[in-house]
Amino acid sequence: MRLAAGSLARSCGARDMKTVSTRLMPSPSVVIHERRTRWLNVLFNGRADGRLNTGHAGVLLAERRGSYPLIDLRILKTSAQQGEVESGTRRKIKRLLSFQRYCHASRLLRGLVPHTPGSLHLLDDDYLGQAAHMLSKVGTWNFDIFLFDRLTNGNSLVTLMCHLFNVYGLIHHFQLDMVKLHRFLGMVQQDYHSQNPYHNAVHAADVTQAMYCYLKEPKLAEQLTPLDVFLGLMAAAAHDVDHPGVNQPFLIKTRHHLASLYQNTSVLESHHWRSTVGMLRESGLLSHLPADMSQDMEQQLGSLILATDISRQNEFLLTFRDHLDNQDLDLQLASHRHFILQIALKCADVCNPCRVWELSRQWSERVCEEFYRQGK
Ligand SMILES: [Zn+2]
Repeated sequence: MRLAAGSLARSCGARDMKTVSTRLMPSPSVVIHERRTRWLNVLFNGRADGRLNTGHAGVLLAERRGSYPLIDLRILKTSAQQGEVESGTRRKIKRLLSFQRYCHASRLLRGLVPHTPGSLHLLDDDYLGQAAHMLSKVGTWNFDIFLFDRLTNGNSLVTLMCHLFNVYGLIHHFQLDMVKLHRFLGMVQQDYHSQNPYHNAVHAADVTQAMYCYLKEPKLAEQLTPLDVFLGLMAAAAHDVDHPGVNQPFLIKTRHHLASLYQNTSVLESHHWRSTVGMLRESGLLSHLPADMSQDMEQQLGSLILATDISRQNEFLLTFRDHLDNQDLDLQLASHRHFILQIALKCADVCNPCRVWELSRQWSERVCEEFYRQGK
């Protein structure tokens, strides 16, 4: 079980835990560099050039947190021809920039003037592949998140979130720093445990995609503000971050420190929320916003994530039923929109049985495997 002092520090989201975090965890820049290196290695070696060392990948598979086998950078250095290495470096740089190019291209296609002077303005041919084609159908319920995760080399959550942020113009609206955004999303994706059969980054991406399906429902879409959309997508992406793969009763009965920390109440959900707040502050994503605004966003994120606690299901169902019976839902009220976002996130979190059979079956097998492991 991987719940070290670092996760506790993030969970607490408190300044006094910062020392613990920095002392026991690699610095954020090191973590990001390591993740980016791994990602680039996979991209570089995963291409069909016939030099993929499957034995090596197998050994390293266990330590990879994404859903794609890790390829060691050392494979690059054993290349006999220096020219090939340089070519690889050029390709790596090209791919590093591809994300930024894609976002810029997306803004241009939607007629938005770029707000960052000097930003790149080249369409990235690499990106306009199968993954991009899939994104054109991201609002459909038969979206295959497993295939999308493979096409993005295990970066489905980051890629999907960046795409949706562009679709809604959230980067421009909130004047978000692209580097900070990418850093934050990378941290979130990395903090999901790839060894969990179910509660991993692909589940987060799946819930985010389902959330998008709800957000684009016409009656809801015409009332939602950019803040609503931002919070809905962020909550969906981070709602299970650092999930240990066991449930709350297990944590309580084994006297886990998280159960003590959160006094046996919404233990996991509280941890997901506080971890998200910790990463938001560590990345500085919202640091340019007024303090009261960023604090309000953190609180609303907490309210959304805590709503996914299944033990509070009846509470939400009764309130929702009352609203439907009385027909008094007014989506012009921020509180009512927030409630609907809570319901949407809860539905997105458990929507697996509503997917097409092939996807639903895979999720069922994964969740059964995770439950089985808990009982072993
Ligand atoms: Zn979930």
